[in-house]
Amino acid sequence: MAIEQLAAKIRAGGRLDRAEALELYTQAPTALLGRLADEVRARKHPDNVVTYIIDRNVNYTNVCVARCNFCAFYRPVGSAESYVLGFEEIFRKIDETIAVGGAQLLLQGGHNPDLPLAWYEDLFRAVKERYPTFKLHALSPPEVVHLSRMSRLPVPSVLDRLIAAGLDSVPGGGAEILVDRVRKLLNCYGKATADEWLGVMRHAHRKGLRTTATMMYGTVETVDERLEHLFRLRELQDETGGFTAFIAWSYQPDHTELGGGEATGIEYLRTLATARLVLDNFDNLQASWVTQGGKVGQLSLAFGSNDMGSVMIEENVVRAAGASYCMDEVEIVRNIEDAGFAPKRRNMHYEILGDPIFRERLVPRMLELAVARVDGDTSRAPEVVNYPARSAAEKKARLTGH
Ligand code: SF4
Repeated sequence: MAIEQLAAKIRAGGRLDRAEALELYTQAPTALLGRLADEVRARKHPDNVVTYIIDRNVNYTNVCVARCNFCAFYRPVGSAESYVLGFEEIFRKIDETIAVGGAQLLLQGGHNPDLPLAWYEDLFRAVKERYPTFKLHALSPPEVVHLSRMSRLPVPSVLDRLIAAGLDSVPGGGAEILVDRVRKLLNCYGKATADEWLGVMRHAHRKGLRTTATMMYGTVETVDERLEHLFRLRELQDETGGFTAFIAWSYQPDHTELGGGEATGIEYLRTLATARLVLDNFDNLQASWVTQGGKVGQLSLAFGSNDMGSVMIEENVVRAAGASYCMDEVEIVRNIEDAGFAPKRRNMHYEILGDPIFRERLVPRMLELAVARVDGDTSRAPEVVNYPARSAAEKKARLTGH
């Protein structure tokens, strides 16, 4: 079909198939792709509102046995640079989040063999006991798969236990590209296959949890595989309706085993716009300013995004791979208003909570991102010894005290 016919089909509310999406992605002028995505965004969000959430991205451990070759964040078991956060450290992070108007942690971490399911249950219960209304947006599908394997329980049972302990929703991390050929090349097939990732989300949705979906592009995948990823998400969303939002970010190559370069801003905007056109059953698309920077993040609002994601208080994963953009609420709101939209705070369910909090009360400005652990802090989390050690390194550390 010619590009003009495809544009007419989208404008009439038609659904793209794979070949049509490929045609648009590869052939349509960038300005046209953006205009079409913006029209779809405006149809879904006619109120001219752009939302954002105040939450904190906490990485509870950097120990990981998965060893994805695109990841600069993880440390192997026994590394001198490894850490597990103590419950008190996590409480302090929650207190700081509440101080700037946040009500949720995005809690994700490495696949640490010395943290059994009971550690997560105890942590979630302890958080909910102290902060009953605070939300836990926690554990991406590969982490759930890891817990399922370690505990020898099926995924639905793991989810039941986590929900009983306080899990509120599931972040869509670890999806990378949902095509097993790509996952094998990125050494992330072992942590979760494409079907396993989608399977966790299907179970979570059936249990009434809402989740997000992500895509990390720009490594070894073809354009067609990028589209396959989008179509697999669309299919599951048709089935369950459980995804609240889609977030795409480009691979960040610094300090990774895989190396290589980073996708350009135009590639990001074309990918984002194509996602808006393909994912006709997703209401919300986030701008990934953390990887693209504030300026391309703002441009995303003209290429299909209706949400600026999170006011980042802390970031460890993307920063480890070389990107460390920071915007506090004041900056996010400035970018939204300058693009001609009305900024509103939201929760994970995209319910509007109100106007910018800094216009209601004095909140501390955060002009630098916090990190999980300050450099040189090698303290051990006191709770870890309450659970049986599985790795040789941890057993030795407990015997020798190092
Ligand atoms: S991306 Fe996640 S699972 Fe993969 S090595 Fe890094 S921390 Fe581990």
